[in-house]
Amino acid sequence: MSIQFRPQIKDLEPYKPGKPIEDVKREYGLKEVTKLASNENPLGSSPKAKEAIIKALDELNLYPDGNSTDLKKAIADKLGVKPSQVLPSSGSDEMVDQISKTFVNEGDEVIVANITFPRYLSTAIMMGGTPVIVPLKDFTYDLDAMKKAITPKTKLIWLCNPNNPTGTMFSEKALLDFLDSVPKNIVVIYDEAYKEYVTNEEYPHDSISLLEKYPNVIIMRTFSKAYGLAALRVGYTMASEEIISEINKIRGPFNVTTLSQVAAIAALEDTEFLQKSYDVNKEGKEYLYKAFDEMGIWYAQSETNHIFFDAKKNAQEVFVDLQKRGMIVRPIFATYVRVSIGTMEENKKFIQLLKEVL
Ligand code: PMP
Repeated sequence: MSIQFRPQIKDLEPYKPGKPIEDVKREYGLKEVTKLASNENPLGSSPKAKEAIIKALDELNLYPDGNSTDLKKAIADKLGVKPSQVLPSSGSDEMVDQISKTFVNEGDEVIVANITFPRYLSTAIMMGGTPVIVPLKDFTYDLDAMKKAITPKTKLIWLCNPNNPTGTMFSEKALLDFLDSVPKNIVVIYDEAYKEYVTNEEYPHDSISLLEKYPNVIIMRTFSKAYGLAALRVGYTMASEEIISEINKIRGPFNVTTLSQVAAIAALEDTEFLQKSYDVNKEGKEYLYKAFDEMGIWYAQSETNHIFFDAKKNAQEVFVDLQKRGMIVRPIFATYVRVSIGTMEENKKFIQLLKEVL
């Protein structure tokens, strides 16, 4: 008699994270390795967040506030929503999982784009949902095609704006037109992991106002990117009180650590660090665009902290060749590679090595 696993899990692949620096150092005997593979903040994190963590170190013996009360209040006060409309999580990763667990039944259709953040798809499959995969158009979300993919069985629609890994965005008008056309019993998850980096004015900057007009919308944000707290695993979700209270039922008891809660509160207030992250990213993006233009390399217009480009050479090979030289990027598919925008020094190193490799 053999152990029986759930059949929904059988064909799932584990999530593939960016390769860790230490692995590459060991593998190639390198002393200096730069990682531009996981869209991390090259500036580190807010000094205020670090101070808050140090202060909280005396409480390591105590369980965290399971309700993340102070963090909820800090987010609610800053954004003008009720604390009961906010739910912090262990990274937005955990929230993707929790949303699928809250909504997806066997056979429910879940509309996801391809290519986008892969956990929308894998968590739908895990729950026995039927994924309906809508290809991007010109490397951008094709909202018209997503609209056409809606059927009476549709339960969830996942939107990532701007998108990972292509860095592209859709406009406020496109989003509102889309939401107007979606039946209100279908839940639309709007993942804004990279919103703090957007430079385009047509972006839906005021997403909070969606919550009032569209009670079927869930907004997801993270402290992992522009706030520089990826190691702490903390993000938050906003929706109607009804949706939040249902998701809250399946949440793990102490899902956000004390250190994560205090650091996130401090980071939220550190507008100086946030502004610097935005400025350095914008400058780095312009530098990389110029270098790509000079090299005749096509890239997608990015509203994030990463750029998706066509290396015109097998992406896996480019990845390995760069890695041997101490630079970790992310091969996406075919000849397309994603590079995270680093400090100017890192960006220059990347371009120099890319020239060697190509
Ligand atoms: N959503 C998107 C679009 C992402 O790119 C990522 C991280 N790569 C996440 C969610 C998850 O981020 P975290 O769990 O660190 O908040």
